[in-house]
Amino acid sequence: MHPRSENVFSGLALDRNAEQRDDAEWIAAQLADPRARFLLLGAEGHALAQREIDALRVILAEERAALLPSATPSYLGADEAGPFFALNAEGRDAARVAAELGGDFIDLRSAGTRLQAFEAGLFAYARALSHWQSRTRFCSVCGAPAVVVTAGHRARCTNPDCAIEHFPRVDPAMIVIVSHGDACLLGRQATWPERRFSTLAGFVEPGESLEDTVRREVFEEAGVRVGECAYHSSQPWPFPASLMVGFTAEAVDPAIRLGGELAEARWFTADEIVRGLAERTLGLSPPLSVSFRLIEHWLRENAGVELRALIDAAR
Ligand SMILES: [Zn+2]
Repeated sequence: MHPRSENVFSGLALDRNAEQRDDAEWIAAQLADPRARFLLLGAEGHALAQREIDALRVILAEERAALLPSATPSYLGADEAGPFFALNAEGRDAARVAAELGGDFIDLRSAGTRLQAFEAGLFAYARALSHWQSRTRFCSVCGAPAVVVTAGHRARCTNPDCAIEHFPRVDPAMIVIVSHGDACLLGRQATWPERRFSTLAGFVEPGESLEDTVRREVFEEAGVRVGECAYHSSQPWPFPASLMVGFTAEAVDPAIRLGGELAEARWFTADEIVRGLAERTLGLSPPLSVSFRLIEHWLRENAGVELRALIDAAR
């Protein structure tokens, strides 16, 4: 059995109160709650964080009233300490608030390794929602302007003859560790550093199950036919709108025939990974990623080796 998912950005302990977002009075009451906290997103979806410690600099209700009274908040949810909202500010507004509160903006990738799990997950959620809002300014059916409704979670077309509602989108992508005998299949894209390898990945296409995508992508990228495959874990990956779905799989035949996407694909035994990391002739995806978790899982199952210990030892 696979262990419970502990992927970065996942498992956010927040009550989203999805069934109440349409209730304008209820949302107004949450906004008026003096315990309300606001996560500020600036340019490129970076979040306001504290300068001295690795933590978000959430804006308190009274600070928001003073500093950003006109920005439209999106409701994220609540924990036992009160409601959370996301706010967007760019350019001069963002810089002014950051200076006033003594904070700096950080990107989600560094947040994934620096912030505690709850804050990293909250940031990922807010960033995904905000990115969708910024890309849903017009109705994709009739072209009229769209307005964000439902406390940030839907967009409605302003053309009364259309009035269609648009929902936040999430683009599923699969990522897979393929094994054969005592080795696993890793690939390197041409744009990556020389020795950097990762598990294979690809977006789900219309009309495919996740398992179909696993089989198609592994064959397209490495020419390897996959037999059995099984779900491992998943991860919100808002760069900008993906859901990464991790799989383990067995190759029917180890012969590799490279497609156009990868510069290199190779079978690695556990020994080769251990040696490669120790000698710094092999680089893997960061611990933040499902790719890391899949390789970690494979090494543990196949060689009783802990990937995090290998990485720490190589530092
Ligand atoms: Zn429309």
